[in-house]
Amino acid sequence: MQVIPPALEKLIEQLSRLPGIGKKTATRLALTILRKPRGLAQDLGAALLDLHSSIQLCSCCFTFSDSDPCAICGDPKREGKTICVVEQSGDLMAIEKTGIFRGHYHVLHGVLSPLDGIGPEEIKVRELLARIKSGTISEVIIATSSTVPGEATATLLADVIKNENVLLTRLACGIPMGMDIKYADKYTLARAIEARSDVN
Ligand SMILES: [Zn+2]
Repeated sequence: MQVIPPALEKLIEQLSRLPGIGKKTATRLALTILRKPRGLAQDLGAALLDLHSSIQLCSCCFTFSDSDPCAICGDPKREGKTICVVEQSGDLMAIEKTGIFRGHYHVLHGVLSPLDGIGPEEIKVRELLARIKSGTISEVIIATSSTVPGEATATLLADVIKNENVLLTRLACGIPMGMDIKYADKYTLARAIEARSDVN
């Protein structure tokens, strides 16, 4: 006799394919779905099926969108001369939440990771260069993560863009709000000192 019913096992298996979800979390999620009224499973299933049929990539900035161009690229009030280059659509959403940035974006859909077989051709670098070459861009902000692959990607982008007539900037990195300086690691502290700004 099988301890876990096959249908439950199948859901656990599928959920644990997602990043950040191990077998334990997948089991907890699957059991929660099972315990809740049937409506939750139906809504979840419908939302999952809807994903690929209603969402596509914006042909300009390559973010996930239900329209082409996306709401940002199609908004005449946005400042199209500045492009912020991010790794994923989730990064775009995080920057949008600040409400500070009013320019356009470019989503790479990944970072350089030679060990995983991800080179410049696998992320949207060529597409970024084509946008810059179209001549309407004056500033490119590189907003990749301060991780080893993020930094490698930033270096690649700087190299690819260096001969273009655009201002190239990088997000400042430093001490998180509310953090005591003595607890910051030396790399964060070094970057914060390098990226210090005028108080006036
Ligand atoms: Zn777009």
